Amino acid sequence: MSGPPDSAPARPPISGVSSRALREALSGEPRYRVDQLSRAVFREAATGFEEILTLPAGLRATLAQRFNYEALEAVRSETSSDGTRKILFRTTDGAAVETVQMPTERPGATTICLSSQAGCGMGCTFCATGAMGLTRNLTASEIVDQFLHFRRRSTERQTPDRAVFMGMGEPLANLREVERAVRTLVNPKAVGLSPRRVTVSTVGLSRGIHVMAGWGLPVSLAISLHAPDDDVRAQLVPVARRFPLGSLMEASRRYQQQARRRVTYEYTLLHGVNDSLSQAADLARLLRRQRCHVNLIPFNAYPGARYRPTPRDGIRAFRDALRERGLRATIRRTRGRDISGACGQLHAGALAGRARRTASANLRRDGG
Ligand code: SAH
Ligand code: SF4
Repeated sequence: MSGPPDSAPARPPISGVSSRALREALSGEPRYRVDQLSRAVFREAATGFEEILTLPAGLRATLAQRFNYEALEAVRSETSSDGTRKILFRTTDGAAVETVQMPTERPGATTICLSSQAGCGMGCTFCATGAMGLTRNLTASEIVDQFLHFRRRSTERQTPDRAVFMGMGEPLANLREVERAVRTLVNPKAVGLSPRRVTVSTVGLSRGIHVMAGWGLPVSLAISLHAPDDDVRAQLVPVARRFPLGSLMEASRRYQQQARRRVTYEYTLLHGVNDSLSQAADLARLLRRQRCHVNLIPFNAYPGARYRPTPRDGIRAFRDALRERGLRATIRRTRGRDISGACGQLHAGALAGRARRTASANLRRDGG
């Protein structure tokens, strides 16, 4: 597994600087400057030190010499007919990362779908990100700055108030940086989201789920299950061979107890593979007596995909079979399919070359 680049960037991104290091950087200044700076970085619309007008000009210039305001550069923005927006970012070392902002049923609020890695090394056979392989883990700042990008640039009607780790990458394969990012997202002195409004979605790395249970934060956990038995699951999710359902269910139960949270099981329906009514019955048996919710995801196709989506009435029949057996089950509303921004369609690598040429034109058009 590759980590963040060895040579630290010359100017560290400000969202990742510890409060102690910030106090040091601001020594000689009145104490309230640290709070002023944090508020501007995490809560306000400034997109550079020069825009933080509560700070004196000299201090703004000094900070700009020492720190980067944003860890990521937005190089391309696309908006779907349903209001979903996708941004392609480039890291300082040139890795490509995609992030999606989705409208929600909550009036004026949006959800940000964060990436935890550039690419993904898990190789799930129905996922475009899996097909591109892993470039590298993202740092905590690169994760948090995806959220901040939207917070700084969204109108009141699009306020981001929820973060889901459902973009590129497997969050629990990048545990250290994801934990730091989650702590920053829920820290009232930083981004300040309610922990319940942060969801970590994992392919099912049982060991990582046990670690998460020890975080002591009631963040929401989603587990990508996709099959009620180990054989079919291993066809779809190769790492399932290392973490069979027995160990996964044990880790999930532990999380439910420790975090006192209902776990969500994600289940992407692939026609003729995992969508039969007898598999629905098996799934209901597997999840019996758990405090959980099943979220059925219609398969989103992408160029080269080897599966077909389950027809709409088949999806409903699968959901009803779960409900009849007492499970809470819903069908995920697909967002942003026309801009390849839906679940499993993120594939920044293929876009990166085109992005450099069209970036400025698109950003101007979308105001991103
Ligand atoms: N790596 C994590 C989080 C990112 S994927 C995980 O696997 O959970 C977010 C969700 O999208 C997962 O449930 C994943 O199984 C699902 N997904 C991946 N490819 C998909 C596709 N082509 N169509 C529909 N859902 C897909
Ligand atoms: Fe990675 Fe999740 Fe895609 Fe699997 S489904 S390849 S874990 S991003």
